[in-house]
Amino acid sequence: MTASTARPLDRAALAERDASDPLAGVRRRFSLRDGLIYLDGNSLGASQWAVAERVRRVVEEEWTEGLIRSWNTAGWVDLPGQVAGKLATLLGADADEVTVTDSTSANLFKAVVAARRARPDRRVILTDDRNFPSDLYVAGGVAELLADTELRIVSPDEIADHLGPDVAVLTMTHVDFRSGRLADAVGLTRAAHEAGALVVWDLSHSTGAVEVDLHGWDADLAVGCTYKYLNGGPGSPAYLYAARRLHEVLDSPVRGWFGHARPFDFSPDHEPAPDATRFLNGTAPVLSLAALDESLDAWSGVDVATATAKARALGDTFIRLVDERLDGYGVEVASPRDPEQRGAQVLLTHDEAYPIMQALIAEDVIGDVRPPRGLRFGFAPLYVRYVDVWDAVERLRIVLDEARWDRPEHRHRATVI
Ligand SMILES: *Cc1c(COP(=O)(O)O)cnc(C)c1O
Repeated sequence: MTASTARPLDRAALAERDASDPLAGVRRRFSLRDGLIYLDGNSLGASQWAVAERVRRVVEEEWTEGLIRSWNTAGWVDLPGQVAGKLATLLGADADEVTVTDSTSANLFKAVVAARRARPDRRVILTDDRNFPSDLYVAGGVAELLADTELRIVSPDEIADHLGPDVAVLTMTHVDFRSGRLADAVGLTRAAHEAGALVVWDLSHSTGAVEVDLHGWDADLAVGCTYKYLNGGPGSPAYLYAARRLHEVLDSPVRGWFGHARPFDFSPDHEPAPDATRFLNGTAPVLSLAALDESLDAWSGVDVATATAKARALGDTFIRLVDERLDGYGVEVASPRDPEQRGAQVLLTHDEAYPIMQALIAEDVIGDVRPPRGLRFGFAPLYVRYVDVWDAVERLRIVLDEARWDRPEHRHRATVI
């Protein structure tokens, strides 16, 4: 049945879906102003009341009163491991395979170098030309840094054909940052292993949005960010996963005391920690780690499969409403329509994407743009409601219908888009 033969969706039907949504209660943890529709949780997740309170407590009590004692008495020293444990559950991994530190880009650097060195007789790092720019920059930097190493960039559809005996590492992003297209994690990991290569997945747009099962994928290494669907706050530390079976052969190129087996022995010799914490290097960012620790509690008691199914359903609803209500305005759906092929975001295209998004933000619907023509909307399952999707499309319809975007103030280009 196509959208044109089905009865058009109405707002009341969507309000009913919200009323029976098992995740409805989780939304109350988030501090979202009434009337604001936030569809950019794929770029920066929303804040939570409990996170603000936790950060206040860490500063005013643990730091101000406890001072350096708080490393022990407030458990700061255990925070990376504690957060890794919470992330491991969402990743389908064990706690000793996950570590939390640095940015995604820095973790990708460490992971790709370690993987390339674990395959010393192979010279190629393989990636695809749709990959996130930072990932391409990092891979290019690694190829320049390491002797006898070549970066090969091909289209996503050609990856499998290029998995030959010269490939040391395949590195890809699981959910395309523009279109939301899902890579075949299981199939590509298997193909890479059959070719003798290791795989480094970037899960930045995946964790908390689509099902991730690193053990089920037989994954080697993975990295990802925590400030998108995991709501850790701006610049919250990223994670790195390393499969237990590889710990012995993966050596971090950024050695520091917190990656040492016993940092407080102050030994002059480096002895890597036996598990994924060997990828730590310096002192943990306690304020942002505490915020992340608190934010992840939104997921406790949430069935990840229920959340990812809701994210898909929100995206389906959005696409259907765009089809039904935005016909004739020059808007196209540029994401896969099959929800099995898509992350929790939908990309629309329009020639005037930038001013349209600015005008939509002025109507209290926040998404973002990705050049040249993309309007990007993310459907974070913990706090976006079905009626929000309706209201967002309706406000977008008004912006287009009344050409509200065609005003000089909406063409002013900010630094961060
Ligand atoms: C958001 C994102 C990142 C973030 O990288 P940082 O180094 O943490 O800023 C990395 N990779 C992908 C695919 C992303 O979407």
